[in-house]
Formats: sequence, structure tokens, C-alpha cells
Amino acid sequence: MLGSLSRWLRLFGFDTLYRNDYTDKELIKLSLQEDRILLTRDNALARSKLLKKVFLIQSEEIREQIIEVLSKIEISLDLLSLKPRCPVCNGETESIKKEEIKGEIPDYVLFSSQEFIICKSCGKIYWQGTHKEKIDKIKKEILKSLK
Ligand SMILES: [Zn+2]
Repeated sequence: MLGSLSRWLRLFGFDTLYRNDYTDKELIKLSLQEDRILLTRDNALARSKLLKKVFLIQSEEIREQIIEVLSKIEISLDLLSLKPRCPVCNGETESIKKEEIKGEIPDYVLFSSQEFIICKSCGKIYWQGTHKEKIDKIKKEILKSLK
């Protein structure tokens, strides 16, 4: 139910697991084992006495959901400085030079973009323009609305 929220949280730089086929039992186990905060829209699951860290997401709207999460997490960390994670697989990303990815992405992107990052897990390449500017803008807006 929270697939797009999980992709956004990854782009923001949060280590975020998402599967829509986990059972409640599996979710609880993962949360405890890996010390993860469980995000859910399921009232019953959120009330489980077994869970130590759980947030019930109220809104159906993605922007509101992001605000709900970020306002509950103590953001002493600088959100803008977090490195994005791969929205597809949650892998860590790193910068990659233009020369190294020639032939792997369309020429017009190579010409028009200067900064590229690659997912260390699945190898997907992202570039500034399509993602970074948009994400930074949304981060700033959301941070503003949290104050
Ligand atoms: Zn990836």
C-alpha cells in the first residue's frame, strides 16, 4: 500500500525496505530483527504489542505521507545532505563519471547532464535534471512545512 512512499524515502536517502507480499508476521519479525521502523496504514498491525517501532500512516496522499513520516522521525540529521538510495532496489548509490557510462544512456542525456549516480546493487543509472533538482525542491518544501 505504501509503494510510492517507500520510493520517495529511498530518494531522500532513507534505507527503506518494501514488499507488498510480506505477511504481518514477517513484517514484525523484520522490524524487530533489523531494528526498523514499520510504516503501515493497517490499524490492527500498528497496534500490535509485539512491535517496538511503528508508525501508522493516516493520509492517502503521498506528500502528506512523507510529511507524516518526517515529522515523526527526529530530523537532527540534515535531510538535504543524505545520499539518495536507489528507488528501485534500495541499494546505495555513488557518483559515476560521464566517460564510464557512455553507451549506456541516451546521448542527449550525456550532453545535457553533468552529474550521474549509479546504484551499487542493481547498476541503474540516474542523472541530475530528471531526479536531483526535483527531489531537492520537494525536500526543501517539505522541510519548510515541518517548521
Ligand atoms: Zn538499484
